[in-house]
Amino acid sequence: MTRILLKNKLDDCIVTWRNAGYSVLAPVKRNEMGSFSEVQKASDMSLDLILPERTIKDRFFPQTEPMIRYKISKQQIDTETMTPPDTKSVCFGVRPCDAAGLEIDDPLFGWDYKDQYWFKRRNNSVIVTITCTASDDFCMCTSVKLSPESTKGSDVMLRPLSNGNGWQVETITERGKALFDSVSVHLSDEKAETAALAQVPVRFNVEQVMEWLANPTSFESQFWKDIALRCIGCGSCTFLCPTCHCFDIQDEGDTYNGIRRKNWDSCSFANFTMHTSGHNPRNTQSTRWRQRIMHKFNYYRGKFGVNSCSGCGRCTRQCPVDMGITETLQAISNLPR
Ligand code: SF4
Ligand code: SF4
Repeated sequence: MTRILLKNKLDDCIVTWRNAGYSVLAPVKRNEMGSFSEVQKASDMSLDLILPERTIKDRFFPQTEPMIRYKISKQQIDTETMTPPDTKSVCFGVRPCDAAGLEIDDPLFGWDYKDQYWFKRRNNSVIVTITCTASDDFCMCTSVKLSPESTKGSDVMLRPLSNGNGWQVETITERGKALFDSVSVHLSDEKAETAALAQVPVRFNVEQVMEWLANPTSFESQFWKDIALRCIGCGSCTFLCPTCHCFDIQDEGDTYNGIRRKNWDSCSFANFTMHTSGHNPRNTQSTRWRQRIMHKFNYYRGKFGVNSCSGCGRCTRQCPVDMGITETLQAISNLPR
């Protein structure tokens, strides 16, 4: 027998979780933009989106975040470290590719320095994922060896019932089990059919991509100049990506008072690698695009043993010039060998 969460019991669960001190986050569509926001009730949620435009990563690694408040006087510098509040979160309705993105980024944020901002939020959150029963032409999870029911990064996996009334509950971690044990009175024990999973075709051969990128002669290939011609360097593909993680640290304020902030940055921006001398080692869009692909499918894997892409397709779906990563990876896997 499997535990079932019926849609008409979701409000009761939300009340229980909120009473236990959790803030409940879910996809919410506002002004044509879907993003994870705090909800009070089930009807606030937009769970029928294939994917919200913004990822759950934004809640763990905000676009801008204060780190230190500083005050400089004649004799001393006073600093106050600013850390995120101790809020516990239920992240409800995450898609498998976005949950996987969090796990892909964990080693990066814990590598040479344990990023307290990322891990405080990670340790205080429960990721409740819903398997995908629909996809679009941009989804490519199966091309990066994930799937519409991948459990990577999830604490709980919900599988939609074929009758549309709710979800089958599968707890993956102890944290997920504890969350759903706390609402067991609102769950039913019954046999129910789950809906068919989305069929996501494999769009490129990732092994061939990795092999070509790892070949030192590929770095100077004319391929990069041809494929990146129409990229305008807007950075949308990086800002919407569930695994992109580049940031810059800047001081905002005057000579005496200010705040040191961590702000998203993007390898697509011309200033990303600009030296103070004025020299820029990546001085064309094609060298910046090459970096993005090399980082995701060669360097990151070399360092952390995993590719830095969960196949969500946002970089292609939202690119203003209809470019994105899929076309590049398809072109690489189709190169003559
Ligand atoms: S690939 Fe598209 S989304 Fe990414 S920087 Fe270039 S134009 Fe912008
Ligand atoms: S690179 Fe593109 S497809 Fe891969 S995770 Fe980032 S946005 Fe999604």
